[in-house]
Amino acid sequence: MSNEYKPLSPETLGARLGGLEAVTRAVGGNPEAWKVREVGDGNLNLVFIVEGEAGSVIVKQALPYVRLVGDSWPLPLKRAFFEYHALIRQEARDPGSVPEVLHFDETQALIVMERLQPHIILRQQTMEGRKVAGLGRTLGLFTARTAFRGSDLSMAAADKKADVALFAGNVELCDITESLVFTDPYYDAKLNRHTTPELDGLVADLRRDEALKIEVQHMKRAFTSRGETMCHGDLHAGSIMVTEDEARIIDPEFAFYGPFGFDIGMLIGNYLMAYHAMPAHIADKAACADFQEWILSVIEETWSVFRAEFLRLWRTERTGILYPKALYEDQGHGFAAEGAAEQLLGEIFRDLVGFAGIEMHRRILGLAHVAELDTIADVKTKARCESTCLKLGQFLVMNRNRLTGMDAVIAAARSAE
Ligand code: ADP
Ligand code: MG
Ligand code: MG
Ligand code: MG
Repeated sequence: MSNEYKPLSPETLGARLGGLEAVTRAVGGNPEAWKVREVGDGNLNLVFIVEGEAGSVIVKQALPYVRLVGDSWPLPLKRAFFEYHALIRQEARDPGSVPEVLHFDETQALIVMERLQPHIILRQQTMEGRKVAGLGRTLGLFTARTAFRGSDLSMAAADKKADVALFAGNVELCDITESLVFTDPYYDAKLNRHTTPELDGLVADLRRDEALKIEVQHMKRAFTSRGETMCHGDLHAGSIMVTEDEARIIDPEFAFYGPFGFDIGMLIGNYLMAYHAMPAHIADKAACADFQEWILSVIEETWSVFRAEFLRLWRTERTGILYPKALYEDQGHGFAAEGAAEQLLGEIFRDLVGFAGIEMHRRILGLAHVAELDTIADVKTKARCESTCLKLGQFLVMNRNRLTGMDAVIAAARSAE
């Protein structure tokens, strides 16, 4: 392959990647006979499925701009480098959670990876009213393990610092989050869109809510300055691929070192939007109610599994520089260490509630929306669901320090209207 970056196409992919051992081994046969389809449905990148005699792989290549917007919005190819480094760390920290990386080419900004099959995107599954057995458990384990094992609770200090430095280079993707998530929704920014005129009044109220905007900026400060662990950075229902009984995580190009509660908070914000959108997708009332209960049980399970796994790792893998055993267990003060763990989990909970609320705002007011809400054809129904989510998001952000546990979040979701 020539050393200059060039976007792949279905026509050129076989000739350009046909010489790579890692690819030919997985795909098999003659590269000229490979069946190549571009299937990217995301906002940013090219994604190809490559099929041959032996099997298939995914080839994901960054473009020098934002796919959703076009070349008027340049975005560095280096995001493929961060995605690659995040994938291999996630695989180490929670084995089996992400697609296996088969090949990485930094110049071409491309990753060849395991094709998840017959997996589909979680949001597609839930919009069809289909459950995923074990979803909360898998996501609770993933968020807890990546949080704990990517932090100063576990890593050697030099490794952690080197990693923070490496991911500090992911400036432009962090900037997208800093702008599109934490800033734009709260003023009349150019890229915003919302259901108008139905939501205009509520949107004006939110943007006049000074206390809300202060709280959101506190959360943004946590995002920019608290490099506690490597976050996935974009953990929404489009970054999870599922079958009836398995979930895997994809697309960590937004990875950065940030707060412990960021990924699980974004995820729970997405669950809550799905919960409130569901009546528009499942016509049968009883079936819909049953499905909504399932979503709430997934929220509960994600957090309870996170807590239990974080505590387990605290007891068994606390080898980093924080809360050293020399100060606690070694002196017979194990109870003090447990107390510290509970305090930290309390802090993570308060953060995740805030991030969840903000995620709900930006998906309704900002540039990137979620299909659960966006595809509701009847505009009145859509606006009603969105308005419920906006108010719930505001409640969560403003009450994140008062809510006593996930039960209180779930109760708020149930009574929101
Ligand atoms: P983007 O960064 O542009 O959002 P994604 O990584 O989310 O790109 O991939 C876009 C789509 O490609 C996914 O929604 C999914 O349908 C498909 N895809 C991506 N990675 C895989 C994979 N490893 N296996 C199967 N399908 C995948
Ligand atoms: Mg994606
Ligand atoms: Mg995307
Ligand atoms: Mg992406």
